[in-house]
Amino acid sequence: MENVKCLIIGSGPAGYSAAIYAARAGLNPVMYTGPQPGGQLMITNDVENYPGYPQGRGGPEMMEDFREQAERFVTVIRNEMITKVDFTGPIHKVWSEGGHEIHTPAVIIATGASAKWLGIPGEHELENKGVSACAVCDGFFFRKQDVAIVGGGDTAAEESTYLAKICRTVHLLVRRDEMRASKIMQERVLNTPNLIVHWNTSPEQVLGVDGVTGVRMRNNKTDAITTLDVTGFFVAIGHKPNTDIFADWLDRDDSGYLLTTPGRTFTKVPGVFVSGDAQDKIYRQAVTAAGTGCMAALDAERYLVETGM
Ligand code: FAD
Ligand code: NAP
Repeated sequence: MENVKCLIIGSGPAGYSAAIYAARAGLNPVMYTGPQPGGQLMITNDVENYPGYPQGRGGPEMMEDFREQAERFVTVIRNEMITKVDFTGPIHKVWSEGGHEIHTPAVIIATGASAKWLGIPGEHELENKGVSACAVCDGFFFRKQDVAIVGGGDTAAEESTYLAKICRTVHLLVRRDEMRASKIMQERVLNTPNLIVHWNTSPEQVLGVDGVTGVRMRNNKTDAITTLDVTGFFVAIGHKPNTDIFADWLDRDDSGYLLTTPGRTFTKVPGVFVSGDAQDKIYRQAVTAAGTGCMAALDAERYLVETGM
């Protein structure tokens, strides 16, 4: 058992920003990075909209910058996952996957979100055999081939244009007659010659045995079923917040986002604060995650001063 003044769960932009502020406030933060050290930006290429990087910065390189800054002010970083919590308080108990038990008065949750899957036949069976949720990680394997990608948000827009640079043809399946992605990203999609958008189209089945050979899809307006010959199938339909381990202790909305006092990082449990995508169903940007990470650390610091813990 270990006593820690401030525990940070997660190592994306929110977790690292919380660590920088908590460390500089003398809270000696301990961070558990979880399964994806660096968070979601580890699977993207250029981040162009994070202030302070006028030329953009690769996602993994940017997260390395965050990590270095957190370590400079002495954050203890452990590459392990948190598997269980007990927020009875006022001293909260938290367990890591290795069975380590931590007691702490202040927990900052920054567990972000993970890729969602469609749940259609063939998707799971062919995962890593042509089905992927990360174009930047796996696009290289489909050089000069024909691939399909599903989604209509910024991730699908970004990943489809990325794939178009590598693959022969990219088929983007959008379930409605418009995309949710930002205007600039949509323009990139529509101006990429080898990227074909299939509007009102949903995949029904990923075809293939040892590898992907095609996708069966439905036109949502006409119900017409067609098959597309592709060797790669990418899913980019958004993310689910990683909040299941907190379900017994904290309030969540229907999608699993943790609920906080509006405009603050407080949960209903004193001493437990939430930042980043784990509580943000609206903005979900690196800069907003970093901002709420900062807020959570400031809220935690004030809480520790006020309670004398
Ligand atoms: P995340 O980055 O999701 O990090 C969550 C962290 O929590 C991870 O380190 C994970 O390992 C950890 N974790 C989870 N569960 C546990 C556990 N049980 N125990 C311990 N640790 C745990 N935003 C932009 O602003 N600009 C962009 O260009 C941009 N591009 C993107 C491209 C892609 C492909 C994707 C998927 C997202 C992109 N985003 C972009 C969104 C941005 O990545 C997120 O908004 C941001 O990363 C959220 O930060 P976060 O710290 O809340 O969580
Ligand atoms: P998102 O904005 O939630 O979009 C998900 C998309 O997938 C939507 O278009 C949705 O369709 C579609 N979808 C969901 N379920 C589906 C299903 N079962 N079948 C077919 N389509 C389905 O998720 P995201 O694109 O991952 O973006 C998440 C956040 O990260 C956003 O805030 C985004 O701005 C940010 N981000 C930013 C950048 C950037 O700035 N460069 C890059 C990537 C991500 P509907 O529209 O019909 O609901």
